[in-house]
Amino acid sequence: MTNQRPYARLAPEIIAEIERIPGEITVVSEAEKLADYDADETPGGIRHLPEAVVIPTRPEQVAAILGIATRHHIPVTPRGGGTGLAGGCIPIYGGILLVMTGLNKIIAVDKRNFTAVVEPGVTLGELQEKLDGSGLAYPVHPGEMTATLGGTVATNAGGMNAVKHGVTRHHVLGLEAVTACGEFIRCGGAYVKSSSGYDFTQLITGSEGTLAIITRIILKLGAATTLREILFVPFPSLENAIDAVPDILRLEPQPSGLEFMEKDILDIVTRHTGQDIPRGDHDAYLMIIVDAANTDELHRYFVSAEAICRRHGAAETTVPGDARARRRLLNARENFLPALRAMGELDVIDIVVPRQEIPVFLRQVKALSTAAGIPVIAYGHAGDGNVHLHPVCHNISNEYWQTHLPQLEHDIFVAGIALGGAVSGEHGIGISKKHFLPLQHDEASLDIMRRVKLAMDPDNILNPGKIFDIQARISTKG
Ligand SMILES: Cc1cc2nc3c(=O)[nH]c(=O)nc-3n(C[C@H](O)[C@H](O)[C@H](O)COP(=O)(O)OP(=O)(O)OC[C@H]3O[C@@H](n4cnc5c(N)ncnc54)[C@H](O)[C@@H]3O)c2cc1C
Repeated sequence: MTNQRPYARLAPEIIAEIERIPGEITVVSEAEKLADYDADETPGGIRHLPEAVVIPTRPEQVAAILGIATRHHIPVTPRGGGTGLAGGCIPIYGGILLVMTGLNKIIAVDKRNFTAVVEPGVTLGELQEKLDGSGLAYPVHPGEMTATLGGTVATNAGGMNAVKHGVTRHHVLGLEAVTACGEFIRCGGAYVKSSSGYDFTQLITGSEGTLAIITRIILKLGAATTLREILFVPFPSLENAIDAVPDILRLEPQPSGLEFMEKDILDIVTRHTGQDIPRGDHDAYLMIIVDAANTDELHRYFVSAEAICRRHGAAETTVPGDARARRRLLNARENFLPALRAMGELDVIDIVVPRQEIPVFLRQVKALSTAAGIPVIAYGHAGDGNVHLHPVCHNISNEYWQTHLPQLEHDIFVAGIALGGAVSGEHGIGISKKHFLPLQHDEASLDIMRRVKLAMDPDNILNPGKIFDIQARISTKG
């Protein structure tokens, strides 16, 4: 058990101490400016103001800030682009919001070693721009290009390309990070394997800013895609679509993306973007995204994939054919979340289940949705089992929504975990999903997680209240 003492207020003397740190550093403490930093993209109105926003530009400043925070017992919440969907960067205990966008240099791109060294505030879009034309690519593609690399490492972000290229952690070779007391950890390196002690790189990746602040990242790059095409396939049912997935995954080349979607989300996004997607009237669809070396390979792939889909009930297949039509399809997929948001209040669930369980899970979700009287829209990454579910406050009163959503959410997580799933496939736990983590991990595992946290952050000042509450039981055994 920790004897967690209350955090101190960020007094003007402490702010002045931070302002005296050498080098360019921005400190914002005027109330009217802080309002820009009280939330991320998580729906549901979770908000909390920091006492000050601090924007460093150098790793040594991060160390100095954490040293001051430890000395005065001030909580520190790191923030990247603020695009997170689990409330991870919301400073729920006030204190310092450490905005990492000032560390924004692409330090090196090594074309012979296929690596890049970047600071955490570089966005996915900026890295992509830098790599354009170089023959190299960073293949992790979460839907939001203003997300920072630091944020994507901290959440172990996934995205549409995960089926072929894996998620962020498969591309993080090394890190520099600063612990709560201001010490630097340098782990991993510009090499692809290592059996040399505990792997702090992988421990810090996905730790949502609770163990250390990431100040530098060594990324593994891949070869840039030469040719990308999409096969868009309607199916009579979601079961038919998902049944086709194992056979599709046996084909070479592996698809980069393999997305499932139902009719209702396509109707919603079409209304939102005003761009029609030729799709007929079918219940479910697969979007198969393939990168090939040349048109022959692409053609061979499509012939085989089409045959598989037809065996599983598909009536037809569509290839967009030109760049505009292809962009329209991808654009539709990237706009699912904004289109749903435009409808009103919604929830974001990104549960992952073994991929063959997707139809069973979705049948259960639909039954729960009907019983709760709350519509749930579903789509996701068929290739990796990551199901995106959005209960929406549509045709029901706000009061009904507030009263019945918590039980529906709980029942959905229980169902997914009973099928062998996990709470979050890519967004992280943050604050919005932490109450569900004990459904997945037993108390012994959570206890070890809390011990790891306290070994690296003994005073619990780094992003407190995220993933789990540290005040919870810590076993005294052993
Ligand atoms: C339209 C839309 C689509 C999205 N699609 C996807 C998707 O397909 N896949 C996916 O995985 N996510 C997706 N996301 C979620 C989001 O983009 C990711 O979670 C992303 O990783 C967040 O990056 P960020 O820089 O905005 O981080 P923030 O939201 O600022 O922070 C996220 C977490 O990282 C921590 N953190 C940030 N920087 C650091 C640092 N330097 N050191 C330590 N901790 C740090 C924060 O404390 C917080 O816990 C989407 C979001 C939106 C709005």
